[in-house]
Parts: sequence; C-alpha cells; structure tokens
Amino acid sequence: MNSPWINAELDALSAAGMRRERRIVTPLPGGRCRLAGRTLVDFSGNDYLGLAGDERLIAAATQALRDSGVGARGSALVSGRSEWHARLEERLARFEGAESAVLFPTGFAANLGTIAALAGKEDAVFCDRFNHASLIDGCRLSGAKLQVYRHDALDRLESALKRADAARRRWIVTDAVFSMDGDVAPLAELCDIAERHDAGLIVDEAHGTGVFGERGRGAAEMCGVENPVTVRIGTLSKAVGCLGGFVAGSRELCDLLWNTARPQMFSTALPAAICAAAVAAVDLIEAEPWRRRRVLELSDRLRTGLRGSGHAVPPQCIAPIVPVILGDPKTTMQAADRLRDRGFQVAGIRPPTVPNGTSRLRISISAAHSEDDVDALAAAINEVQRGNADQKDEG
Ligand SMILES: *Cc1c(COP(=O)(O)O)cnc(C)c1O
Repeated sequence: MNSPWINAELDALSAAGMRRERRIVTPLPGGRCRLAGRTLVDFSGNDYLGLAGDERLIAAATQALRDSGVGARGSALVSGRSEWHARLEERLARFEGAESAVLFPTGFAANLGTIAALAGKEDAVFCDRFNHASLIDGCRLSGAKLQVYRHDALDRLESALKRADAARRRWIVTDAVFSMDGDVAPLAELCDIAERHDAGLIVDEAHGTGVFGERGRGAAEMCGVENPVTVRIGTLSKAVGCLGGFVAGSRELCDLLWNTARPQMFSTALPAAICAAAVAAVDLIEAEPWRRRRVLELSDRLRTGLRGSGHAVPPQCIAPIVPVILGDPKTTMQAADRLRDRGFQVAGIRPPTVPNGTSRLRISISAAHSEDDVDALAAAINEVQRGNADQKDEG
C-alpha cells in the first residue's frame, strides 16, 4: 500500500521530531551491546538483574526446547499448557506468596486482559495519568467510566471516587513503579483510599518485580501492602529476563481470569522453554538478593552524580530507571546520538510516551554494570550537555 496520506503522516512525525527509527542491536555480556559495528555500554534495556543472558537460564531453556520443541502449539486452555507452564505458575504463586497465578503472552496482554475482564461498563476505573500504555488501553477496552488522576493529587482521586458511589464496582489502576520517572506509587495511601471507598486496587509491578522488597516481590512488598492490593500483575520480560506476563492472586481470581481474560484465552501459550527459563530466574531472584541490592546502589550512585552536576533528575526517582529531563524532543534525540558517539546506548524518550515538554534521556541500570560504567556515563552526559549550553550561547 502506497497512499499519499501515509507519507503525509510520516512527514508530520519527522517534522515534529517524533519519527521513530529501528536499529539492530546484539546484546553482549556485562551490560554491553553491539550496534552498527561498535560496542556500547547499554543503558537502554530492562534487564535489571543481568539475568537475560545468564547461563543457568539458557541451560533451563535449552533442555525444555529439546523436550517440548519451540512453539506451544495451542492456547493454554486447549492444548498449549505443558508441565513447564504448570511449574512456572506454581513457582510464581509461591514466590509472590499467593494462592495461584495465571500466565499471559506478555505483560501488555496481562494488563489489557485483566482490566477488561474485571471491569465493565457498569463500573468506574481510576487510572493514574502516568500509567503504562497497556493499563490505559485496558481501562479503555473495559468500557468502564474512565477517570484519570495524578498520584501527587490524591484528594482529587478521593472526590472522584465519592462521586462514583453508584457504580457497580470501582477500580484504582496504577503502575507500582512509573516507567518514565522511576518513582514508586503511593501504594499505602492508595490502599487506604481503596478501602474507604470500597474500591479494588490493581497494581502493575512490571518494574518492581525482582527489584524492590526484601524478597524481591516488588514495590507492594517494600511498602508492606501486598495483602490489601486486590490484583498484582507482573511481567517476566524485565528483571526476570524472559518474556510473558502474569497475575498472582487468590484461587478464585485466577480461576475467573482463566475463564474470561481474552488475551490469555485466545493467544497461543508461551513457549515451554521460556517457562523453564523463568522458573530458573525466579529461583535466582530468591537465591541471589545481591543482584537487586547492586542495581539499586548503582542507580543511587548515578542519581547522586547527575544531580551534583545540576541535571534535572526527578526528586522522587528511586528505581533503576533514571530520567534526565531535557524538554525538547529534538534536543533529546541529539543528546542520545552524542552519547552513542561516546560509547553509551541511552534511550531518548519523546511524546506521546511522555507529556509534551518533558522529553528526556532515560537511563536503565543493570546489576551487570560496574561503578566505572555509571561514572563514565555521568561524565559523558556532562560533556554532551556542556556542548549544548555552548551552542546556545553562540546562537
Ligand atoms: C514494559 C511494561 C509493560 C509490558 O510488559 P511486556 O511484558 O513487555 O509486554 C507493562 N507495564 C509496564 C509499566 C511496563 O513498563
């Protein structure tokens, strides 16, 4: 298809500095990657614990590949659920301290399917303004009355909940860790508010699982609110180093999702090899707590360095996601290019992923990085920003 409107839309994206490019990246050990023939320190992935390339995950996946082949051949409800799937569900439930768990093809599908299964048009959903796209889309798909709130203005959430007391059910939907600012949702306050207004609380631990909490179960564990949270959703694609989404909860909740969450019912099950690798990863999250301590220490070190040089790192940021807000999308993408020239792969993030005027460098830290990597990145950001300031003075 080659219609003028397609080119017009692409041109409009280019003109606004919003056109996306794809690159081919080869992951390397030690938090590195190979891109266009060069080796870069990779600060753009979500492999927080350095598990995606771990030999023990690879060995587990290889064995399951030999036993079960590559594809799962069917949806979990028909014929795609193997011994490995059952074992992973059980392992996730035990890890999360929950009765049961349900797997989804991705975290995106888990959010979409779970919200749409639990909320309907008789209900009201309250969605944080900075929630991940998959949560927002799930709220929309549910057909429930959607209201957006901000986690720095919870009094407004509370008055919106009061006005929704005629709805059949009320759901508050939040990221545990916000993926663009690296801050943690006020989960204790949200639990209190949910209780006061007879609402359920759905928490997406995509960036919390494996990173936060004494046992690595996420931000809800860290905040001491695992029980009051009604529905806990996680992904296997970030700290777990694999692929797939999951919900952990009561047996009844999981049973309901088995029966009604459409992305889980109508997509082919995960490959058995991925399930086997994810079981190995959860074992390592429990057995090697040094990984989460390390990634949090390195993140603190980077934040301290950047703030010391006057960069705009959001004050609430505590995750291994460290944003440096630059504002303008073109400046941001240029800064990312200059960092690449200096040997660092860092994501430049623009609207619509973040609000207008808040384009940013988004640095993701891994336990595979070293102190030297982090210090060298901070120095490179200083150089690049000094270059920008000099250009402005000349202009
Ligand atoms: C990445 C992400 C997802 C989607 O997870 P996938 O497993 O990659 O589909 C969901 N929620 C948040 C907050 C995320 O950052």
